Amino acid sequence: MPNIKRLTEYYELLCDELNKNGYKLRGRTAERSFESDFKPDYDNLDLTIMYITDDYKTYDYLNNRGLINHDLCHFCGDFLGSDKLYFTEPTHNIKIEICRSCNTKGKIQQTIYKDMLKPKSGCLFLVLVLLIIFLCILIIPKTLYD
Ligand SMILES: [Zn+2]
Repeated sequence: MPNIKRLTEYYELLCDELNKNGYKLRGRTAERSFESDFKPDYDNLDLTIMYITDDYKTYDYLNNRGLINHDLCHFCGDFLGSDKLYFTEPTHNIKIEICRSCNTKGKIQQTIYKDMLKPKSGCLFLVLVLLIIFLCILIIPKTLYD
């Protein structure tokens, strides 16, 4: 069962440990780079693990101290048992334990996203029609005056 309270407490523990030991969250906005303390992303808890894995040393430190809970879904806080799947985060390809349900949800989201990226054939057709009209406007007057 998803458990937001458990997941919140887990991420608070990880963030506390990082802050106490001098680790900083480093990031960049369009204007500047910044450094801040680690804290759980309370609006999107599952993003917290992405902040932690963004720097391999940070994740490694927690893992070596035995603080990464490999039996917990890092997206919803469910206990995993033997039914363990992984989300490979894109920065360092760290495999993060997640549950089957979060894995399925992720796949559905990826499919929706891919569908959004697919070029719409209707749209392409409209672009072609507009291009032809535009060319006609440019070419026809020239041929009339020649
Ligand atoms: Zn989950």
